[in-house]
Amino acid sequence: MKKIQIISLFPEMLTGVLNSSMMWKAQQERAVEFKIIQLRDFGLGPRKQVDDTPYGGGDGMLLKAEPLFAAIEQAKAYDSTAKVVLMTPRGRRWLQATAKQWADAENGYIFVCGRYEGYDERIVTLVDEQVSVGDYVLTGGELPAMTIIDSIVRLLPGVLGGEMSAEIESFADGETLEFPQYTRPEEFRGLKVPEVLLSGNHAAIAKWRQDNSHKAD
Ligand code: SAM
Repeated sequence: MKKIQIISLFPEMLTGVLNSSMMWKAQQERAVEFKIIQLRDFGLGPRKQVDDTPYGGGDGMLLKAEPLFAAIEQAKAYDSTAKVVLMTPRGRRWLQATAKQWADAENGYIFVCGRYEGYDERIVTLVDEQVSVGDYVLTGGELPAMTIIDSIVRLLPGVLGGEMSAEIESFADGETLEFPQYTRPEEFRGLKVPEVLLSGNHAAIAKWRQDNSHKAD
């Protein structure tokens, strides 16, 4: 069973995603175990401080090193072979091929969600992978972590209903995109399903699908 731990200041952002649909099913089938670690629990002093101003000046606050180190070390104590993954726009761009590799790997993962202006850079000494979901800036690492975790978990054995569906999805071979699909009714508000898909001609359908596997405009 894949162990996935997530260190965050906003666990409520995670529970809805992790306890719905495929992620919920994956837990029921014991393909994955999720553990959310509240960073605030490792905060300093009576106010459980987790952030502070940056040395050298600048706007905003940074997550402090001490709570992050303590949270990561607790997660490592639970799963010593887990890889520590830091969410950051500076990281390696996330790809379907990486989701597949990580789903196939034996080890678990500890996702660290940044907040505010980021984190004290010293935590990278504990980090195995720095990952970005794209060239834009989000408010925190929770949405990126959910995106990445979803893409991994749905590829774990037994999670997807139709086992073939992951193989024919977009990017499964690195670049090909999935073709457009339709379901009943054949006509809706004057919009018709392409004739060939109703033809029963498997070769013609396969060709149409291949011809239409391209990026949306
Ligand atoms: N000051 C940082 C910068 O300019 O790169 C942005 C900090 S962002 C507001 C707060 C946190 O959200 C980051 O530390 C990171 O954990 C997460 N984050 C934001 N955008 C991300 C992205 N594209 N990919 C992964 N994580 C992201």
